[in-house]
Parts: sequence; structure tokens; C-alpha cells
Amino acid sequence: MDYATRRAARLTGRAPRVDKHEGHECAVDGCSRTCRAMSRYCLRHASAFYRTRNPTGRLPRVQEINPYRDRAAYALDVYGLGEHPAIVAAEQTLERMIASPGAVPERYAKHWRRLNEGGATGRGMLLNILAVYGLRYVGVRDVFTDDAVHFTCLGSRWLRTVPLGWYRTSGGKLEQVRLPGLLAEEVGRALASKIGGLAILFWNRVEQIDAERAAEAMTIREALERNPL
Ligand SMILES: [Zn+2]
Repeated sequence: MDYATRRAARLTGRAPRVDKHEGHECAVDGCSRTCRAMSRYCLRHASAFYRTRNPTGRLPRVQEINPYRDRAAYALDVYGLGEHPAIVAAEQTLERMIASPGAVPERYAKHWRRLNEGGATGRGMLLNILAVYGLRYVGVRDVFTDDAVHFTCLGSRWLRTVPLGWYRTSGGKLEQVRLPGLLAEEVGRALASKIGGLAILFWNRVEQIDAERAAEAMTIREALERNPL
């Protein structure tokens, strides 16, 4: 029996052995681990790629994003930006989107329904979007390794406006539902095309107002220094 026949007999009708090492070196610079079969990355970098869409990517923690969420909420309420027609329209668009999934593929539609049934508001969803843009365009932009990681984070934060929930494993253990990076990235790109431009203009305006306020405070302080009360 020749090699091809023996190999075919061994493989036919079986699941591919994706856990078997192929022997190549991982495609990430400086990583010399062996590739997972059918992948250009080793196990560690393949799993980072699965979650973040970049083999060396990292999704920012909620604690890193939250300050920008608070700052956006403050600007919407106190600076009156929440009444701007474009902000109102964006909130309505998001609410309409999750209320009627229409012909959206089921892998997204099930999340739209989850958000809608979980009581996600237009303001809540918009704040999660603005927060990610704040971290990127006002805060530490290098937190995002590249655009793919940014979109993945955007989709992920928005989809978590209502918690993803839990599922029971075959062993009976309760585990948090995982969110594949690819799904988050696709959702993030869709959100960016709808709301991204507005989010960038929003932060530009917030920075402008903050600068004006800081300048006013400085003028008062300087006047006091010249002529103490
Ligand atoms: Zn690697």
C-alpha cells in the first residue's frame, strides 16, 4: 500500500486534526513557537487573533474606557450636546436598528433581540460607542494596536450594552457567553460607518469646550493674582 492510500485510509471520515502541529514557526515577529496546524500562528497568538483580530492585540479593559464614558455623559447633559439633532438622530437610529432586525443575518439578529429585550436605550448604546472613540481619539490611541482591534473593541462594547449572559457547559458548569472577535469586528465596522463620523466630531467639540472653560478659569486665576480680593 503506497503512502497516499494509507494516509487516505487513516483520514477518510474523520475530523481534521487541527490540534496537530505542522512544524512551521509562528508568523508573529519574535515568536518562535510552532504553528497550530492550518494556522499561521502558534496557539497563543491564534487565540489572541480570535479574540481581538490581531495576533498581538489586546482589548482595553472596561476600567480604561469608563472615564471616557463618564466624560461623554457629562458633555451630553451639562454641555447640552445631548440635544443636538445629530445626537438625537443617532440614538433613534440605534433604537430602531435593534427593534426591527429585519433581514439581518441571524448571527447578528439574535444580539439585536438580546439588546432590545434587555432594555438597551439609545443613550446607553451611544455612550458605549462614544467611550471607545474617546479612548482612541482623545485618550491613549496606542491602546489600539490597529484599526481591526479598534473596531472589535467598538463592537464588543456596544454588544455588551446588555450583558452577554451565561450558558451551561456539557459538564454542567456555568460560563459567560463568549464573543468571537470576528463578529465584534463586523458589528464595530457597521457602527463606525453609521456613527463614527459623529463620534469624532463630538469629541472634537468636547475638547474645544473644555479648552474654553480651562481658559476662563485661568483668566480668573490670573486676575486674582494681579489684584487679590
Ligand atoms: Zn506566536
